[in-house]
Amino acid sequence: MKIRQFKFVYIFFLYVLFVIGIESTYGWSGEHNGITAAAVKLLPSEDRNYIAPEASMLAKEYCEFPDQNWPCMGEWGGGNADPHLPRFPDTRREWDISFYCGWDPVLQKGKGYPHRPPETFTAVQHYFGKAVEALQAGRLSDGARFIGVMFHYIQDSGAFPHVQPIHRSFHTKSLDVIHVDGYVPHSLGRTKEEAAAALAERVRDLVDWTEKRLAPLLADAGVPIDEAKKLCAKELVHARVAGAVAKLHTEKPAEFESAACDCANECLRVCADALHTVLTLAPHPRPEPVPNAPDINLVFNPSFEEDDGDRVPDGWYVGWLDLGDRSGRAEWYRAGTHWDKPVKTGQRSVLLLWVPDKGLEWRQDWRHALHVNDGENYQGTVWIKTRAATGTTWFALQSCDTAYQPVDSAKSEIIKKDGDWQKLSVKLRVPKGACWLRVILHTEGNSGAVWFDDVEVVKTAE
Ligand SMILES: [Zn+2]
Repeated sequence: MKIRQFKFVYIFFLYVLFVIGIESTYGWSGEHNGITAAAVKLLPSEDRNYIAPEASMLAKEYCEFPDQNWPCMGEWGGGNADPHLPRFPDTRREWDISFYCGWDPVLQKGKGYPHRPPETFTAVQHYFGKAVEALQAGRLSDGARFIGVMFHYIQDSGAFPHVQPIHRSFHTKSLDVIHVDGYVPHSLGRTKEEAAAALAERVRDLVDWTEKRLAPLLADAGVPIDEAKKLCAKELVHARVAGAVAKLHTEKPAEFESAACDCANECLRVCADALHTVLTLAPHPRPEPVPNAPDINLVFNPSFEEDDGDRVPDGWYVGWLDLGDRSGRAEWYRAGTHWDKPVKTGQRSVLLLWVPDKGLEWRQDWRHALHVNDGENYQGTVWIKTRAATGTTWFALQSCDTAYQPVDSAKSEIIKKDGDWQKLSVKLRVPKGACWLRVILHTEGNSGAVWFDDVEVVKTAE
């Protein structure tokens, strides 16, 4: 291939990778969602009601957390610093995924687990315990997110991550084949510890089961499973194993697909048992979230003073509304040594600079968003300073439903001119169907700079 042709094919290949997502290329992306949704369906109705407010996000988002805990989230170049590719949305900080996974890949803090056996046996025990503890403390959302992480490790265990050439092509054509009608989930133990240990054994059996299921096919293709495991332990994608898998794909596609489907459904049974057990150990009836106290500032890290070391203030993340934009900057601003210090109080504020037409935002992450009830009233305020501003700047209180989609938004007055610190204020009555409230700090089409500081959200009588 000529160099130009090669370059084009390479860029196109990278584009395809980006469009279908890194996860689906290297793992069981759609299957994670399909197995999780099917596991919730298998639950007895009491369990299903318990997890109902978080069920859709468990299947859509939480079960993928470990595959989104990458340091490149929010950064340029499709994960590979490729200048032709857009920015990744910062999903990792949007959900504080590193908190739920227990490992921060930017700060290199905490403890993570590889997505393969035997480490997954320990991982599932750990996240099972975290899920039960969160639910016992009445924190349903946190519990559901830990369940998502636990699910991911169960699901990866049955998808041959330890034999990468299989893992990467072990997909079902359609998610509809993922169901085990009539399966009744059973409890794995009466205490957290007993059940967590039983789950680890259950996942060990799952790995054995999936290996036995695929063994005859691999032997047929010329590389028995034990040999495939040994080869891939030495080299992630060993050519002989990759060759055998490619052969199966072309010569026995139906058999290979049917094995992938059976393994997905075996994972489904384990997930259903694990979820049922977590919910059995949770307090009944489900504790209602404690209502917010009136007349105090409910915003976490409201003056942007706290940061764990990654230069993004804790509890906040950047919303890139134009992923292809190359100039906009969102910065954690530090008061300088000059007489002019664009911070309202303390040493820090947040800055939006050189912002494209589609806009750029600082948003509260979901872990620190406020749990609210319909009919409650909130007042939000923020201080804003602009310099050489050309665009429009505002802030908003956004109310969202259980699918974390906006229901309503109370927007402040729009600032278009330059000015020193001024206080903006909005009021919001939580509409029916909303249960989350978060603050959004926004500017768009702005070649100048905007600083925000001292955010406040207070629950009011009316
Ligand atoms: Zn994974």
